[in-house]
Amino acid sequence: MNTDCNALAELLFPDVCDTPESLEQRFPQRELQEGAVVSRMAPSPTGFVHLGNLVQGITSERLCHQSGGVLYLRVEDTDAKREVPGAVEVLIEALSHYGICFDEGATVDGDCGDYGPYRQRQRRDIYHVYAKKLVAEGKAYPCFCTEDELSAMHERQEAEKANFGYYGKWALWRDRSIEDIKAALDEGKPWVLRFYSQGFVENKIKFTDLIKGSLELTENDIDHVLLKSDGIPTYHFAHAVDDHLMRTTHVVRGDEWLPSLPFHLQLFSALGWKCPKYLHIGPLIKMDGDSKRKLSKRKDPELALTYYRSEGFPTESVYEYLMGVLNSNFEDWRRANPDAPVADFKFSYKKMNPAGSLFDYAKLCDVSKNVISRMSAQEVYEKTLQWALEYDADFGAILKDNKDIALRTFAIGRGGKKPRKDIAVWKDAKDYMGFMFSELFEVKDSYDERFDKADIKAALNAFLETYDPADSQQEWFDKIKAIGERIGFCPDMKAYKASPESYKGSVADISMFLRVAVTGKLNSPDMYEVMSILGQDEVRKRIVSMTEVL
Ligand code: GLU
Repeated sequence: MNTDCNALAELLFPDVCDTPESLEQRFPQRELQEGAVVSRMAPSPTGFVHLGNLVQGITSERLCHQSGGVLYLRVEDTDAKREVPGAVEVLIEALSHYGICFDEGATVDGDCGDYGPYRQRQRRDIYHVYAKKLVAEGKAYPCFCTEDELSAMHERQEAEKANFGYYGKWALWRDRSIEDIKAALDEGKPWVLRFYSQGFVENKIKFTDLIKGSLELTENDIDHVLLKSDGIPTYHFAHAVDDHLMRTTHVVRGDEWLPSLPFHLQLFSALGWKCPKYLHIGPLIKMDGDSKRKLSKRKDPELALTYYRSEGFPTESVYEYLMGVLNSNFEDWRRANPDAPVADFKFSYKKMNPAGSLFDYAKLCDVSKNVISRMSAQEVYEKTLQWALEYDADFGAILKDNKDIALRTFAIGRGGKKPRKDIAVWKDAKDYMGFMFSELFEVKDSYDERFDKADIKAALNAFLETYDPADSQQEWFDKIKAIGERIGFCPDMKAYKASPESYKGSVADISMFLRVAVTGKLNSPDMYEVMSILGQDEVRKRIVSMTEVL
């Protein structure tokens, strides 16, 4: 170990005059109620916001806000190469769309809060205070190895079948004299600051992760880089300093960070700090044929949050679905409390699956159908309109110009004990009710070949003869039954099911003849209601044109 650590610290960081003590004072312990969770989202501003971000965001947000704590946003922009302009704004917007709002941290117009700056590149001086301290205590040292030297080391390790990495006898600058270091500095050689690891791979450490449970991990023996040659820290070093100074109590992050945890624990200990509680979230997995795999950016468009918006999933649906994925008891709670605000659900990390969660698109659609079935017609109209104006301008214009018709159509079968559940995404609304508008009406479905065209025609004509828009639903239906009976279709479903061979069909088929003529489809909302909204002229017109093509 270097004998003159203090001199080395001065040599490497002559401009650092701030002290750890003054930083402790500048960022004091937060005064919060007992048990309050302070957590953060700490994304790298790459511009790609994905489902994993949302999963992590929901988990952190719930833990903080259910406990009277603080959620903040920290921008981890230490890797300038990966940074995309505007990424922070995109992220903030995407998360707030799902109700994830921060109490402090980076915002669209600067930072807000007492523990900033919240963008890591602006915290360079702070990291250097601790880098200097570590050097002064013999816990970090400069390394002047070139890329070539590091690859030569890698090759030799391969040849000797040794573990890869910069450690022990391989760590060329680990125990160099201050004279060697001075000489290298005088030559102007670039350097990185490395951690002086005291660990051994033969040792195991025990750790309890709040999601994964008790873990036995291999101690870290690598002298990882703390500061890169431009003086910017690596994620490892920066997160330890920031989470300490920002008084984070719980770190919620993807389990791809688990292998780095032994190093992180060493870092906290070397810095003399208590480490936060860690929650490592397992990945989102999907079925691919018979096998399971992680959702991938390249293969799965549904990984990107923008996908849900453009498809027209209500935010509530995605949120509720993910809640169910994250907390196994959520679905039971929702069944017992169908109308309660989702925030009433008591989220718990104890219910999270350590191995990760299966992402099931069909299930998401089912959840969404339920969510939409609980909305009022007005809400469905407004949300569909908002979606359509952004993603399907023609449909948007139609909805805007025909608000009354759209509202009345969305109201069909809504409310009550068994509401209709036809719409999973706003995009579906066009198919669901497009026929209500002459611009979109087209006959999409056709009659089953088992029906005689003459019978269909006869039924349609008979309907035209007796149709009276003033009829009550019962009168309307009785007429349909009578029409069917006249041409050999059973008016009573029970009787029909008992001996279907005795009839050409049932009253349901007569309704279907009308349905295809009036809506162009085999499935539609209640025909009586549809007809009254469309009005007698339009209904007659459509039925007549169907009789003409049969
Ligand atoms: N910047 C890291 C990432 O984007 C953050 C991990 C963490 O939350 O600590 O994966």
